[in-house]
Amino acid sequence: MKKSITIIGGSIAGLSAALFFASAKNNELDFDITIFDDGKADLKAAAIYNVPFFPKGAQASEIYAHIKEQIASMLEVKYIDSTVVSINGEKGDFTTTDEQGLGVKSDYIIVATGASQCNIKGLENFVIPHTLMPKPNKICLRCGERQMVKEGIYAAGLVSGVTTMVACAMGSANEAACAILSDIKGTLSVYHDTPSTRS
Ligand SMILES: Cc1cc2nc3c(=O)[nH]c(=O)nc-3n(C[C@H](O)[C@H](O)[C@H](O)COP(=O)(O)OP(=O)(O)OC[C@H]3O[C@@H](n4cnc5c(N)ncnc54)[C@H](O)[C@@H]3O)c2cc1C
Repeated sequence: MKKSITIIGGSIAGLSAALFFASAKNNELDFDITIFDDGKADLKAAAIYNVPFFPKGAQASEIYAHIKEQIASMLEVKYIDSTVVSINGEKGDFTTTDEQGLGVKSDYIIVATGASQCNIKGLENFVIPHTLMPKPNKICLRCGERQMVKEGIYAAGLVSGVTTMVACAMGSANEAACAILSDIKGTLSVYHDTPSTRS
């Protein structure tokens, strides 16, 4: 079985979600992942000293390069450098469209667009103020259980309402990804490796 997932936002949250799916690929379940990103990440302003196992003072370019290399070793992901303007459809048949009119179909969508704005048609009714940001005019999406915005659409990272820390953004991305995996499998699911899983 192959499931397609579009990720909007390719910073730490979007890439963490993609890495989860890359690692969860196996003989029974494969993924077709597309990541849209328009290059305006908060992470680009940061130097990270407080995330375990990250090099001290890590910056966005090396973090992205490292995660993309890790993803590429397990799954081929399509990266599109553009701004998403709309989402249409429903679970199993979404179309995500960018400013050039390119439409990508998918079964699921992860919105990982950060806390600055979310001007995506189809999500406007879910935008609310972000209450855990120490800056004005920040937003997130109103989510239900397991960060589901609506059936088939999940929020990850700051747009899910978590505190603005890299580790929180990564954790929320894994939560959204596990929720999608559970939905695909029809039962509560996680993906765990052991030292012998891949040998
Ligand atoms: C100055 C500064 C210093 C910081 N220092 C630290 C620190 O020391 N430690 C720490 O843990 N955290 C730090 N942070 C916080 C950290 O950067 C954020 O918590 C983290 O980047 C959030 O990740 P994210 O993926 O949710 O959002 P972001 O990193 O903001 O990424 C969102 C991505 O979505 C893309 N996007 C948005 N809308 C669209 C669209 N419509 N179409 C396509 N792409 C879209 C954006 O271009 C962006 O690339 C700092 C933040 C700032 C601003």
